[in-house]
Amino acid sequence: MDDTVQVQCPYCFELVELYIDPQQRGEMVQDCDVCCRPWRVLVSRRRDGSPAVVVDRAQ
Ligand SMILES: [Zn+2]
Repeated sequence: MDDTVQVQCPYCFELVELYIDPQQRGEMVQDCDVCCRPWRVLVSRRRDGSPAVVVDRAQ
């Protein structure tokens, strides 16, 4: 299963490939690879097990 998703940074708007651990669910904080500012990443799973990811600015 491919658990890599493409997300857009809410700060610099770069498209970044984000690897989601197979056990990952809920909320995590991850720094942008491009601008190093912190994302709040919300991970949920679709019925087929693929990750659904929402990226927001962490405060
Ligand atoms: Zn960024």
